[in-house]
Amino acid sequence: MNYQARQQRLQQTIHAERLDGFVVTHPANLRYLCGYTGSNGLLLFLNGHRTFFTDGRYTQQAREEVQGARIVIPKGSLLPAAVERMPPRKAARIGFEADRTTVIAAAEMRKLASGKISWKPTSALIMRQRVVKDADELRLIRAAVVMGAEVFEKALDSIRAGVRESEVAGRLEFAARQAGAEGMSFETIVASGKRSALPHGRASREPIPRRGFVVVDSGVILRGYCSDMTRTVYVGRASREERKWYEAVLEAQLAGIAAVKAGKTAGEVDQAARQTLRRAKLDRFFTHSTGHGVGLEIHEPPRLGRAQQERLEPGMVVTIEPGIYIPGKGGIRIEDIVLVTANGCEVLTPVSKELIEI
Ligand code: ZN
Ligand code: ZN
Repeated sequence: MNYQARQQRLQQTIHAERLDGFVVTHPANLRYLCGYTGSNGLLLFLNGHRTFFTDGRYTQQAREEVQGARIVIPKGSLLPAAVERMPPRKAARIGFEADRTTVIAAAEMRKLASGKISWKPTSALIMRQRVVKDADELRLIRAAVVMGAEVFEKALDSIRAGVRESEVAGRLEFAARQAGAEGMSFETIVASGKRSALPHGRASREPIPRRGFVVVDSGVILRGYCSDMTRTVYVGRASREERKWYEAVLEAQLAGIAAVKAGKTAGEVDQAARQTLRRAKLDRFFTHSTGHGVGLEIHEPPRLGRAQQERLEPGMVVTIEPGIYIPGKGGIRIEDIVLVTANGCEVLTPVSKELIEI
């Protein structure tokens, strides 16, 4: 991982924002900038130097992981220790992650400043950097996506009428752990029968009914990076109407993928998928966005939603996941991860999207 390049780029941003320093505490940003994977840490950028603060529980871990920063283990809390290092200069402008700071932490920051610092709230400065993935990140994301696909295929065998949704989720998660995943990107969704009409139907104790759709949405975390995929299978024989619904969602998903290209807006991709479902008169059942960015976190920018103006850039990694949810009947969602390129996109998820009847 090229932490030095990432730190230098943030340093340039700090300079461009006319800040004297910057405080990073959000775990995903810490991992991105210096490799630290613990839960408590603070990375201070000040006068071209980086200092990393953590507590005694993480002394060894910080020494093993943190790159490009001097490590300090203070006796008390991290923020006062960081402020102590700041030169007693009236109104030094220190940026912080306002979108990741609690009200309590903000109050503590104000108290510590006392004429010495002026805190400057910033939003998404590091996220703007993270949104385009570098070569190391793409390697890890590709590996996570392949692992996510393999464990889905293992769990597929356990989908049968009468088996609890939670058992299917358990098989999938066990396979992920066996394959070396650090954990799941989010709580595995296994939603069968009428429950498939819940867009976020977490696996419940309910047994899978004798016939109907089963939506499986899951992701693994591999060396910090998340995968995310959804497939919808059918238990029994799908009726003609159900098959039509499935084909409409698949067509919308393919239209979304076809619309992805550097320079397009996120909203245009959403529109492509939504329009396809409108032609099938199913768009009123499509109640969420078409997709989202994925990386160290499961939901990152850009959001591929209605009228989103953010432009796609080569190296962004996004999901394309239209779905329909028909109350009382069932739901269907199909989700792949794609890599945005100059001329279009590369679909990373290596799993067939033909309707499987079990
Ligand atoms: Zn998903
Ligand atoms: Zn997703």
